[in-house]
Amino acid sequence: MTLDIMIENGIIVTANGMFKANLAIDEGKIVGITKNTVFEKCDLHIDAKRKLILPGGIDTHTHFEFDFMGEKIRETWHQGTTSAAFGGTTTVVDFSVQKKGRPLMKTIETDVSRADALSAIDFSVHGCFTDFSNPEKILKEMKQIVDFGVASFKEFMIYKKQGWCIDDWNLYNILLKAAELNAIVGVHAENASIGESYMDKLVEEGKTSAKYHPVSKPNFVEAEAIQRAIILAENTGSKLYIVHMSTKEGLELVCNARKRGLPVYAETCPHYLTLTDETYARTDAINYICSPPLRKNEDIDALWKGLAAGSISIVGSDHVAFTSEQKKEHSKAFTDVPNGIAGVEARLPILYSEGVRKGRISLQRLVQISSTNASKLLGIYPKKGVIAPGSDADIVIFDPDTRKTLSADSFHMGTDYSIYEGLEVRGYPVVVLSKGKVIIEDGQYLGEAGDGSFLQRKLSEEEVATFEELDV
Ligand SMILES: [Zn+2]
Repeated sequence: MTLDIMIENGIIVTANGMFKANLAIDEGKIVGITKNTVFEKCDLHIDAKRKLILPGGIDTHTHFEFDFMGEKIRETWHQGTTSAAFGGTTTVVDFSVQKKGRPLMKTIETDVSRADALSAIDFSVHGCFTDFSNPEKILKEMKQIVDFGVASFKEFMIYKKQGWCIDDWNLYNILLKAAELNAIVGVHAENASIGESYMDKLVEEGKTSAKYHPVSKPNFVEAEAIQRAIILAENTGSKLYIVHMSTKEGLELVCNARKRGLPVYAETCPHYLTLTDETYARTDAINYICSPPLRKNEDIDALWKGLAAGSISIVGSDHVAFTSEQKKEHSKAFTDVPNGIAGVEARLPILYSEGVRKGRISLQRLVQISSTNASKLLGIYPKKGVIAPGSDADIVIFDPDTRKTLSADSFHMGTDYSIYEGLEVRGYPVVVLSKGKVIIEDGQYLGEAGDGSFLQRKLSEEEVATFEELDV
C-alpha cells in the first residue's frame, strides 16, 4: 500500500496531551499515528522537525459576504476562507441571516450553494431568524433546518433598527423548540432597549464620534442580556451559546451557570483578548467599531482567566471584512458605521502568541478553544477537531519560532486594514492541510475555490456533556 502523505518528526498536540510521532494520511483521512514506523511507500514526506502538529482550526464565527448596515462585504467566500486557511483555520461556521418575508431555509440553501462553489475549506452555517411575523412557522422550520444538518441557531437580542432583534417570547419559544430538537441556540447578548436608546441620546447631544461607541454600551448592557438568556435557557432545558462575550460581568454569569451544571457555553474573540476601548480615541477609531465594543484591561484579564479555567469554551473571530472606505462612508455618527472587524486569519497566531507564549493558556487549551471544543459543541466531532485515525486530515504544521509582524499587507483577507497592524507575534502556521490536501505551504495558497464542502452537523449529547471537564 502506498500512502498519500507522511508528516514526520513533529510534535502532535491534542486536547489531552502532546507527543512526538509520525502521522500517516491517505485519501483525505488520518490513517495512522506511529512512534517509530516510517512508511517508505508514500507519495509525499513532510518533515515537521521542531514543529507542532495541531488539528485544523475551527472558526465558529465568520460573516463572509455579509450584508449589514447599508454595506455588503466585498471579500468573497473564497478570499475569506483562503485567508482563514493561511491563519491555520480549516473549518468555518458562518451565519445565514434570514431575509424578511422568505423562509430561513431558503437563505441557508442559497448561502450553502454559494459557499459550496467558492469555499477553500469545509464549512457550515448557523441559522438566524429575523422575521418574527409568524412564530408558528419559525418553530416548524426549525425542524427542517436541523434535519438539513444545521444544528445551531443564533438570535440577535439587539439591532432593533435593522429589524433583527428578537423579543423574549420568541427567544423563549425558539429555546424550547431547540431543546426538543437537540439543537443549540446562540445569542448576541446586548440589551436592545438600553443600548439603542443610549446611542440615540448621545447622537442627540451631538456626541457622534467613535469614542462614544463604548459609552453607549456599558458592560452591564451585555451582562443583563446574558443573564436573561441564561434564565430563559434554564427554564426550557436548551443548550445556550453566548457568542462574542466581552465582559468580566458576563463571564461571572456564565461561570455561575456552569457551576450549577447548566449547558451554557461562551465564546469570545481575539479582539476582546487584545484591544481596549482606548482604541476609540485613535484617529481611525471608526475602523474598530464592533459590537459589543472593545472593553478594558480588567475585562481582558478576566477573559484570559476564563479561557484558561474552562468557563469560556471557544474563541471565534467574528470576522466581518468591511473596508475602511465602507466604514468612512457612514461615519457621520458612530451609530451608523457598519459594525464589525476582520480577524479570521489572525485568530490562531494571536491565541498562540498572546496566550501560550505569554503563559496564559497551555498548548492543550489552545487546541481545545481553537478547534476541539467547537467540533464537539457544534456536532462535527470526531470528523473535525481531533488528530486521530479516521478523522479528516485537517492539519496545521505550526512553527513556534516564526516571528511575524501582523499587517494588512501580509494578510490575505479582502479588506485594506487590520486592527492588529504592527502587532508582533511569535509562532505561525507554515503548512496547512485540508482533507489531506496541502493548501498552504511556504506562504503560497495551493488550493482551489470549491475545495470546501458543507458539513452536516448533528449534536451528540455525549460529546457535548463531556468536552469540558476543567474547573469552572
Ligand atoms: Zn458576529
